[in-house]
Amino acid sequence: MNQNLLFSSVNILIVDDLPTNLRLLDSLLSQQGYNVLKAINGELALRATTTVDVDLILLDIMMPGLNGYEVCRRLKAEPKTANIPVIFLSAVNESFDKVKAFEVGCIDYINKPLIIDELLVKVKTYLSLSSAGKEIMLLDRRIEELTQERDDRIEAARKKLEIVCHDLLTGLPNRVLFMERLESALQRSTIEPMYRFAVLFLDCDRFKIINNSLGYFIGDELLKAMAIRLQDNVSQNDTVARLGDDEFAIILTEIKDVTSASEVANKILTALNEPFKLQGHELFISASIGISLGGRDYQQPEHILRDAATAMGRAKELGKSRYQIFDITLHQEASRFLNIETDLRQALKKQEFVVYYQPIICLNTGQIDGVEALLRWQHPTRGLIAPGEFIPVAEETGLIAPIGNWVLQEACHQLRQWQVAGMVKESFTISINCSRQQFIQRDLLERIDQILMQTQLNPLCLKLEITESALMEKSQATVKILKQLSSRKIQLSIDDFGIGYSSLSYLHSLPVNALKVDKFFVQNLDEVPINTGIVPAIIRLAKTMGMRAIAEGVETIEQLERLRMLDCDCCQGYLFSQPLPPEEVIELIAREPRW
Ligand code: C2E
Ligand code: MG
Ligand code: MG
Repeated sequence: MNQNLLFSSVNILIVDDLPTNLRLLDSLLSQQGYNVLKAINGELALRATTTVDVDLILLDIMMPGLNGYEVCRRLKAEPKTANIPVIFLSAVNESFDKVKAFEVGCIDYINKPLIIDELLVKVKTYLSLSSAGKEIMLLDRRIEELTQERDDRIEAARKKLEIVCHDLLTGLPNRVLFMERLESALQRSTIEPMYRFAVLFLDCDRFKIINNSLGYFIGDELLKAMAIRLQDNVSQNDTVARLGDDEFAIILTEIKDVTSASEVANKILTALNEPFKLQGHELFISASIGISLGGRDYQQPEHILRDAATAMGRAKELGKSRYQIFDITLHQEASRFLNIETDLRQALKKQEFVVYYQPIICLNTGQIDGVEALLRWQHPTRGLIAPGEFIPVAEETGLIAPIGNWVLQEACHQLRQWQVAGMVKESFTISINCSRQQFIQRDLLERIDQILMQTQLNPLCLKLEITESALMEKSQATVKILKQLSSRKIQLSIDDFGIGYSSLSYLHSLPVNALKVDKFFVQNLDEVPINTGIVPAIIRLAKTMGMRAIAEGVETIEQLERLRMLDCDCCQGYLFSQPLPPEEVIELIAREPRW
């Protein structure tokens, strides 16, 4: 029964022109559990194989019509039947051509009259051989499929990687691929100690202006054109990559020294200086380039790129459209900046800020009629730090907003305390510096209102100082805020006046109360004849526009005398007093000095 089950799916085809032979073989094999199919001649046998899957054929040789050889030859010629094992049945009295039999493809032969055991053993053996062969074939096919699948997957992954590693717009390698190549260059330098390469970090100087004024489409075209110019100016083994926006980076793979890297940088700067002709526009751009020299001094590719970026920043500071080579002092500067940032974040929490006050003298009365609040940082290890060192960091990191708010709160509170204690006159004013970022802060007005309410300070006593350069961005928002401040009776001064390039008509349209002459001009006052130079011009300008003029940085009696002659309204400077902590400044005020 078991055997039946086992073989019921095995089909054996018997081909013989003698019905007795067919019957005999049929009963013999059926008993063994095989499925037996019978054909009385060659044609029928061939036809049977087209409809049924046959596993083994017992084939008589001498038959009318197609003989056994021919049937076997035809079977082997058809792909569907080529692999079916064929065993010839040959009567001993017949002339049996064994060579021919094997030539046409039989696997074995059995003599008639049959020896039953021999027949069964051969059938069983060839069936299992054939099934093993089939299995091998299936396995082969599966392996072939798997190989193909693997190849397809590798190809797809390669294509994906190609996309992932390239910038879609310019087709240049992106940051991922760039870092990979940088890593390889670095590895090479560990194996070949004399090997040098350079990284150029390039940032476009005016890209944002072009993008904003002419639109993204032109901006994109410009980036593509830039990419081509960059590639045209390096050699084939070098890598030009786009890191983001208008930032590009280049690995120069074969350079002798820093001079050859500078030469390439110069070539690139010159190439970028040529106008770009795009969509009927003629565009002029320039770029700043930072160079770092790769070699065994570096352990990490990121550091080489970082240093090139730092050098690029310095190139910008030095006036743009130039290149700068990285040296270690730049790194020290950058890391000091970083340290300051970390410390600054803590400073607010730890209440390390203090406000100093510098008297402002009204030249009409010769007396102190207000103070300017100037921020100081009482650093736990470095001592008192002047704002010049940390305000730029605070502006860059956005920390200026909370710090500025704190100064506003603190200074207003201080003045109110002095007022309540009767230590200053009602008209005494406090001037507070306001950075550009602070000025465009959305809740600036709310903040001020809140502080004025909390401290009960009269808005007339509050003056905000905003630098000329901050005002230069003539946004509607700036004008709106200025008007709102002025409607609250808060006064506005333009700080460091004279170093920016304000358009006078624009200035005239703003509700500004005073111009503060930058100390640079005040200190050069003695060098030119009175009534010439910039200070008299600024003072006259202020008067014409109905504003007051305040001179900063007055250090000598001569300067003071000149300013008096020029009819300057107020003065401030070391001649009168340094910025002082609150206790000291109020002592000074109490003494009511006169100049
Ligand atoms: P500023 O508003 O123009 O302040 C005047 C600067 O000149 C102060 O420097 C002051 O100490 C200095 N100074 C005063 N008299 C003389 C003098 O006779 N000779 C010389 N050489 N210098 C004099 P300071 O305190 O170092 O502040 C520098 C700048 O930092 C300020 O310039 C202001 O722009 C900014 N700043 C100060 N405090 C704050 C603040 O709370 N918030 C913001 N956003 N900026 C502030
Ligand atoms: Mg100021
Ligand atoms: Mg100033």
